[in-house]
Amino acid sequence: AAVIVGIDGPSGTGKSSTSKAVAAKLGLRYLDTGAQYRAITWWMLSNGIDVNDAMAVAAAAGKPEIVSGTDPSAPAITVDGLDASAPIRTQEVTAAVSAVSAVPEVRTRLTELQRAIAAAAPAGIVVEGRDIGTTVLPDADVKIFLTASPEARAARRNGELKGKEAGDLAATQAALVKRDAADSGRKTSPLAKAADAVEVDTTELTLEQVIECVVTLVEE
Ligand code: C5P
Repeated sequence: AAVIVGIDGPSGTGKSSTSKAVAAKLGLRYLDTGAQYRAITWWMLSNGIDVNDAMAVAAAAGKPEIVSGTDPSAPAITVDGLDASAPIRTQEVTAAVSAVSAVPEVRTRLTELQRAIAAAAPAGIVVEGRDIGTTVLPDADVKIFLTASPEARAARRNGELKGKEAGDLAATQAALVKRDAADSGRKTSPLAKAADAVEVDTTELTLEQVIECVVTLVEE
């Protein structure tokens, strides 16, 4: 039977790197739900919608066509046929995504899309996000909740950002903490550990160790 793995946690815990590697090792598909929230946010910004106007965001939530590729070695995402892989990673989108993600109409739409993608994966899928274990796939076979200290998360995020986007560590940490607080505090499907999720603190672990740990949990 298909194996469904949900990996949740705040940003900078190594969720994406871990999820992709685990999917590749086990021959599963891969879905980055954060990329979908970023894609809808990018579309809102590109279409002049005020991301702090929840009514306007709700009214437009159904408009963009979002297509996610599920190959762990080449994750792709398009919005209305346009490649969104690069534009969804800008600081502008990162700063706006929590507000868009808090709108229930946005969450309902993407949750349906995510469930359909998971159901269509023949051998199974690794799905990463914030509410996979609690809301999107509550019946997932394996649920992981990744954590790390704020310092470790900021250091990793700064390492990912290149050139001018990489600010000082304190600014990166402040932005991360602010986004996590918004994601944890929203009313609909907040960032949370499912009761039956296994928590893995990655602060003192290498990426290889985290991957090994998750692979072991899936194979058990
Ligand atoms: O994982 P990533 O940092 O790219 O996610 C971007 C944002 O998308 C998060 O800060 C959160 O606001 C939103 N998100 C969410 N639910 C998910 C995945 C991401 O609300 N399942």
